[in-house]
Amino acid sequence: MGRFSLSQDLGIDLGTANTLVFVKGKGVVVREPTVVAKNIETGDIEAVGSSARNMVGRTPGNISVVRPMKDGVIADYDTTAVMMKYYIKKAMRNRSFFAKKPSVMICVPSGITMVEERAVIDATKQAGAKDAFPIAEPFAAAIGAGLPVWDPTGSMIVDIGGGTTEVAVISLGGIVTSKSIRTAGDNMDDAIIQFIRKQYNLMIGERSAESIKMDAGTAGEAKEDKTLDIRGRDLLTGLPKTITITAKEVADSLKDTVESIVEAVKNTLELTPPELAADIMDRGIVLSGGGSLLKNIDQVISDETNMPVFVTEDPLDGVAIGTGKSLEYIQHFRSHPNVSSRPSVE
Ligand code: ADP
Ligand code: MG
Repeated sequence: MGRFSLSQDLGIDLGTANTLVFVKGKGVVVREPTVVAKNIETGDIEAVGSSARNMVGRTPGNISVVRPMKDGVIADYDTTAVMMKYYIKKAMRNRSFFAKKPSVMICVPSGITMVEERAVIDATKQAGAKDAFPIAEPFAAAIGAGLPVWDPTGSMIVDIGGGTTEVAVISLGGIVTSKSIRTAGDNMDDAIIQFIRKQYNLMIGERSAESIKMDAGTAGEAKEDKTLDIRGRDLLTGLPKTITITAKEVADSLKDTVESIVEAVKNTLELTPPELAADIMDRGIVLSGGGSLLKNIDQVISDETNMPVFVTEDPLDGVAIGTGKSLEYIQHFRSHPNVSSRPSVE
């Protein structure tokens, strides 16, 4: 490593579901669930990331598995900082002994308050960053998706994560209109859990619900006649039980969540100035985030808005790639507060 590259800057996507770290010149090097396992007696961290996630629903009484981010914001400050410290260390494993602390570009949801944003910045510093620059998540997602964010043209990005869906229209390096709703992938899992409990008196865990969503979930009508076997606990007998459900039932259970996401897109379009709306009509709406991998969601949004809709090439990595790419514009982010965490006009 050259003398001038001792400080290794990082881009961090601190998501509700997944945390990713981008290292300048290397790309995404850490990709882990935003999950921490803690010993509740001693307060010690037992595991972080995937190994903690494997413990969900399987822990003995003294270990509790927590998701320190909720609805896009920090729910458990100290745990978030410890987790980030671990990931920053992991990302910088091979750095020189003399390396300086990194500057970090970190994404925050567009709808958060100053206090919530401050907490993200402070936690990033506590985790070992020299300084931390917030970037609005949809803006990072748009950069990651390769949209022409600096041009005088309207681009619309819809980032469907675990806890939040962020919709934004961007032009000339700023967010023109945006909407952030606390409905996203996690709500789909919840909807599946509720449906199976109501319909079959069967209790299933979060992880099972998520895999049902990934295997058989669809936005809109289910096209295939697929069925799947689900194991859970019978609420009447208390014993394990297997039932069979259809993809159509799964699709039905997801309807409300999908509808809320579609509504957020429509509302944002309604508030978009006509010139920019015309640009979006030409270029299409771009979807990113893990939730955009739900089958057929692009089609449903397209049908409901009469706009072309595309899913980015890398929905799970897009925001991290965007934070990483935007490291090059740190100066711009310092001097243009409107690309920071809040929409410029509301
Ligand atoms: P965040 O930015 O909030 O951490 P991500 O963009 O990492 O969220 O997306 C996580 C969400 O995407 C989770 O709710 C996860 O279940 C969902 N997801 C991931 N893959 C798929 C898939 N193939 N189908 C449907 N949902 C998916
Ligand atoms: Mg995200």
